Amino acid sequence: MPFLEDSVGVEDLILLEPLTQESLLKNLQLRYEKKEIYTYIGNVVVSVNPYQQLSIYGPEFIAKYRDYTFYEQKPHIYALANVAYQSLKDQDRDQCILITGESGAGKTEASKLVMSYVAAVCGKGEQVNSVKEQLLQSNPVLEAFGNAKTIRNNNSSRFGKYMDIEFDFKGSPLGGVITNYLLEKSRVVKQLKGERNFHIFYQLLAGADTQLLKALKLEREISHYSYLNRDVSRVDGIDDVSDFKAVQSAMTVIGFSEEEIRQVLEVTALVLKLGNVELADEFQASGIPASGIRDRQGIQEIGKMVGLNLEDLERALCSRTMETAKEKVVTALSVTQAQYARDALAKNIYNRLFNWIVYRINESIKVGTGEKKKVMGVLDIYGFEILQDNSFEQFVINYCNEKLQQVFIELTLKEEQEEYKREGIPWTKVDYFDNGIICNLIEHSQRGILAMLDEECLRPGVVSDSTFLAKLNQQFSKHDHYESKVTQNAQRQYDHTMGLSCFRICHYAGKVTYNVTSFIDKNNDLLFRDLSQAMWKAQHPLLRSLFPEGDPKQASLKRPATAGAQFKSSVVTLMKNLYSKNPNYIRCIKPNEHQQHGQFSLELVATQVQYLGLLENVRVRRAGYAYRQGYGPFLERYRLLSRSTWPRWNGGEREGVEKVMGELIVASEELAFGKTKIFIRNPKTLFYLEEQRRLKL
Ligand code: ADP
Ligand code: MG
Repeated sequence: MPFLEDSVGVEDLILLEPLTQESLLKNLQLRYEKKEIYTYIGNVVVSVNPYQQLSIYGPEFIAKYRDYTFYEQKPHIYALANVAYQSLKDQDRDQCILITGESGAGKTEASKLVMSYVAAVCGKGEQVNSVKEQLLQSNPVLEAFGNAKTIRNNNSSRFGKYMDIEFDFKGSPLGGVITNYLLEKSRVVKQLKGERNFHIFYQLLAGADTQLLKALKLEREISHYSYLNRDVSRVDGIDDVSDFKAVQSAMTVIGFSEEEIRQVLEVTALVLKLGNVELADEFQASGIPASGIRDRQGIQEIGKMVGLNLEDLERALCSRTMETAKEKVVTALSVTQAQYARDALAKNIYNRLFNWIVYRINESIKVGTGEKKKVMGVLDIYGFEILQDNSFEQFVINYCNEKLQQVFIELTLKEEQEEYKREGIPWTKVDYFDNGIICNLIEHSQRGILAMLDEECLRPGVVSDSTFLAKLNQQFSKHDHYESKVTQNAQRQYDHTMGLSCFRICHYAGKVTYNVTSFIDKNNDLLFRDLSQAMWKAQHPLLRSLFPEGDPKQASLKRPATAGAQFKSSVVTLMKNLYSKNPNYIRCIKPNEHQQHGQFSLELVATQVQYLGLLENVRVRRAGYAYRQGYGPFLERYRLLSRSTWPRWNGGEREGVEKVMGELIVASEELAFGKTKIFIRNPKTLFYLEEQRRLKL
């Protein structure tokens, strides 16, 4: 393995010989140990989280990557950002940067590196700088409201994000559009042991001055709030006090008015206070269990802050109105039901607040429709998830990853094909695993799992998670990528580990068992109308605006789209958007579970290499010509191998390369000479060149 003799392994996995899962892992490990966290697969950057500050960032390094072509410097995210930006600017090709990997792998940091690189090299001037500032400042705001400490990552994004940055014809930024996906709203009311709620709650309690706290009627102690886990308050590496200042100032830079910031904080405080609303048993005259609010003071404070009548609020939390064609029936809720309603309300308010913040940022950074724009999209989204218990959330996240894999394969091949065409080289077909069949299993508009879930949610009569599962089992009993306890037959091994309430999908990245419990509920995602109507009655302008369906005049009987349908439609829009752009990939890997530098767990990395499909990626890249390089840089590197081109060469670059290769007697079917690049089929040819070069040096 010529390149592996080098102590840092190969910089491009395409050059790996032999190519196996094991050699790939070893190469990443070797590089990681030498603090070389970036490795290429062609133009894909594989990044292994260093969990320490490396001095490879900042203006000096930005300048380096700005002035050199892709392969002339060590692999780096800056190199990828540079290629993307330059081709956007010079070749007028819209770009997207797709960043994937599991939680804690470094996606968000990578996306910030891309943004800061682009901000540093694009355009100058006061106007441009203020646009840049607004775009960059959207990060701390979204992180405050959308990130939290989890067991895997102290600053974990709990939402997916896609951001289009828009440029004028000269390459100066004009503004952008942010799209957010699926905030993990269950975190608002409950967190796992060792995890926190969203950062903003702690920032607010720790960072607000006494006056603000008083105005919001908040206590400083975290332990006062039942929605905040007691076991963690502070997090290593996070300063809630200074972050709160940063968030307020970022909001101001973006263009939130003082009044808007106040209202956002009031709604945030409202969520915390809702959690403390205690519900207690009360008995109706008839003796039927009912509930009531125990703590009058808390609820009074809430009512005052958002301008809400107490009776309205109590009625909404503790009873439910059923409307039939003829009459309205009001039933009292039990304590458990009322607690459920309260938590649903808190989650809904927070989720809608988050969406509103994204909407408000977009209002500030949006670009007029008349202008012709060049676009760079940056996607920072949850990777493939296989947890101990996989539910609806994992199901849709993995669906999204399945789609991204499809884009990846199709675009990589398409890009490959187009490059051959541009260079005037014949194209040979590459075989690869097409995951269309799995995408279809999930998203087919009538016979997909999502469609069947919707159908079950809308069907009158008694529906439950198990009636849903029964239908799936019937529909997919013969599907190659679907398994469940009842569909397992003689050919498939009987699996005792799978529960009766589960189904399993064989994703491109591996098998995942999903438990259908609460699929129906989560897909329905219904907020009792009593609650939305109560919120709409609030005098608080922001809160009220978050619940437009509470307006009795608006209240049509049309049901809002289900969570699954909404997610699918946003994935479809995203895919359309990505297909129209030239893709650039950053594949992030988490080296260990402890957020520690210097530790590389082969086992952990192996599963990620599999989920990310890295081997397949290298294989696809190698299927045609493994290596390609512009004539200029190639000649520069190897011209010392030929007496005609060394020490002096006055001819053209392509002729020079032909001279070198001719003299080394490289078989002609090994090579293709394109318009601007030389293509080499087998990596071994390149090893040979490198070997020869080393002998000369
Ligand atoms: P993800 O978005 O994939 O969940 P993050 O980007 O939030 O992961 O990274 C998790 C943590 O890892 C960061 O908070 C930071 O401490 C560390 N980290 C990630 N990338 C880098 C990097 N390039 N250099 C130094 N530390 C990093
Ligand atoms: Mg993240």
